[in-house]
Amino acid sequence: MDFETELAAILPAEGLLTAVEEKRPYESDGLAAYRAVPRVVVLPRTRDEVQAIVKVCAAYGVPIVARGAGTGLSGGALPLEEGCLLSLAKFNRIKHIDPDNRIAVVEPGVRNLAISEAAAVYGLYYAPDPSSQIACSIGGNVAENSGGVHCLKYGLTVNNVLAVDVLTAEGEWLTVGCSALDSPGYDLLAMVNGSEGMLGIIMQITVKLLPRPPVARVMLGAFCAVQDAADTVADVIAAGITPSGLEMMDQLAIGAAEEFCRAGYPRDAAAILLCELDGTAGEVDSQLDHLQKIFEKHDCNEIRISTTEEERQRFWIGRKSAFPALGRIAPDYYCIDGTIPRRHLGIVLQRISELAQEYGLMVANVFHAGDGNLHPLIAYDGNEDSQLEAAETLGSKILELCVKVGGTITGEHGVGVEKLNEMCVQFSALELAAFHSIKGAFDPIGLLNPGKAVPTLHRCAEFGAMHVHRGNLPHPELERF
Ligand SMILES: Cc1cc2nc3c(=O)[nH]c(=O)nc-3n(C[C@H](O)[C@H](O)[C@H](O)COP(=O)(O)OP(=O)(O)OC[C@H]3O[C@@H](n4cnc5c(N)ncnc54)[C@H](O)[C@@H]3O)c2cc1C
Repeated sequence: MDFETELAAILPAEGLLTAVEEKRPYESDGLAAYRAVPRVVVLPRTRDEVQAIVKVCAAYGVPIVARGAGTGLSGGALPLEEGCLLSLAKFNRIKHIDPDNRIAVVEPGVRNLAISEAAAVYGLYYAPDPSSQIACSIGGNVAENSGGVHCLKYGLTVNNVLAVDVLTAEGEWLTVGCSALDSPGYDLLAMVNGSEGMLGIIMQITVKLLPRPPVARVMLGAFCAVQDAADTVADVIAAGITPSGLEMMDQLAIGAAEEFCRAGYPRDAAAILLCELDGTAGEVDSQLDHLQKIFEKHDCNEIRISTTEEERQRFWIGRKSAFPALGRIAPDYYCIDGTIPRRHLGIVLQRISELAQEYGLMVANVFHAGDGNLHPLIAYDGNEDSQLEAAETLGSKILELCVKVGGTITGEHGVGVEKLNEMCVQFSALELAAFHSIKGAFDPIGLLNPGKAVPTLHRCAEFGAMHVHRGNLPHPELERF
């Protein structure tokens, strides 16, 4: 028997795709500039089928790339031409909701939003809310340690997952985490969060559910200067307020969102902030007063506060649609994801705008300002080779800038294939070697998503291995970038 015949013995005919035209829909994730058609696509329906597939792949040395919904923005689910693309889409059952213990046990292909929809009947919800939540899978969220608007107050995926069942590269079942708040031993659960399909196949997830806050209101502030909006963000956090979301959009992003969904944003503002507070009515009202004073101190020239749930949703709709809205400005966009200390927001946004001019490309900014998690969206035309190259170089420069000011090259989108070179900037050879040791411990034969997320030391040497010591630059130095 050969590899394909062995797979055909495990799966029903519709669960094994070998013809190019059938495999084409799986050739990329959300980072569509990178494409590859895999050797086979498999769509198993049971855990036994997944286990058997992993064992066959291991026996034939065929690498596996796991795929949730394929919305990833860093090429994590990009297939390998010689590999097996393992879709988890059919594992879409919510197995159990336990309102007393406020947990849900779900399969990896369940959509993020579907968990909150199912928990709503108990007055509960799942807090991490990537903007892609209508489509992305919870398995993909764990593999990327995804964030979202509400993660500023409620934490990233890693803070909202209690346990996962993982299938190892050797085809063994492993449960990491438990329903207690802490467990002995190394924190393998934290390691699986953000492992980008390289340490194991995530097959079941136990997530925490939270009670819906009684009141949530959003303050929208419009500013004439980006710097004022940036300073406001730093002041809000310094004042001890923890909003459930604090997002910024610049003028280009505001214009695109307005064209797309008419959220009612002030088009002439240089930047807007959307700041959500939740809690009891009393808590929210008193924090809104405090917030308003901080906004006004920074020359905020228009303030609106949602008064109904419908209005709150309308304030958010423009922000949540901002990525697809960029499609109206240019044929393609490249979404960068880096994190910086909040106090550097103004100066870094200024430098990004200068870099955009140097490279002759438009950059819109729409991002999780409260977390310092930037998302510059570089608009380009992929039909012109030089523009894609310029967009990628500009993206690298922005990420290097993030590292130089003491930040990181990803806040929530992962490394995938996109940021391998930037990993050489972020980490020393010793740190990268530690990552390789961990990969080797989980996956000694290098079966799972090889070549993603952690660069080889050889690659870093070729790239120039420009490891930058994080946060070693005093503030005035930043002005020289
Ligand atoms: C419009 C838009 C907005 C977005 N907004 C956000 C945002 O606000 N916050 C955010 O964090 N991200 C955001 N993203 C990125 C993306 O949606 C997230 O990274 C998401 O978690 C990916 O989930 P997925 O199911 O699509 O995973 P995929 O893209 O299919 O896979 C992502 C990675 O996870 C691995 N993987 C998937 N499933 C499994 C599994 N079961 N076991 C092991 N490995 C697995 C894959 O191999 C790959 O490395 C956005 C994307 C888009 C297109």
